[in-house]
Amino acid sequence: MTDFRICDECGEKMLPETTEQKFHFNGKDIIIKGLNVYKCQNCENIVYTSDEAKMIERLIQAFDSKPAVDILNLEETAKYLRVSNQTIYNMIRDGRIKAYKVGREWRLLRTDIRAYLEESSNNTAYKIAAKGGQITEHDKAIICEEIKKRNND
Ligand SMILES: [Zn+2]
Repeated sequence: MTDFRICDECGEKMLPETTEQKFHFNGKDIIIKGLNVYKCQNCENIVYTSDEAKMIERLIQAFDSKPAVDILNLEETAKYLRVSNQTIYNMIRDGRIKAYKVGREWRLLRTDIRAYLEESSNNTAYKIAAKGGQITEHDKAIICEEIKKRNND
């Protein structure tokens, strides 16, 4: 049985490997060794397993001096999950993610977004945009997006 994922960048096969990754954050370098990832054999795109992504998120939060904003609007949520505004809107509409309407604007709680990620973590992997080894302000929390569901186990 081969364990692989399909690359969401180029559609080629991604194979499991163990690697180390350097994150530059708040003027510090954090090197994490022994990370279990899937790496694209074609374009070198990397995705982390969901457990690893959560661990990295917690680590990064520990290094972050500013408290995270707990209420996000639609655009911020899209940025947070690395998807389009339309995708978030669709997720709200079909009830996949919880949202509250304040006037004409949607508001989402970070805890609800996390709950959604927890729920979907069995079928999806999180992709951390750390290809360049840098974490920017935008990237600082979870930095992830859903990739194609594996349907050919
Ligand atoms: Zn690829």
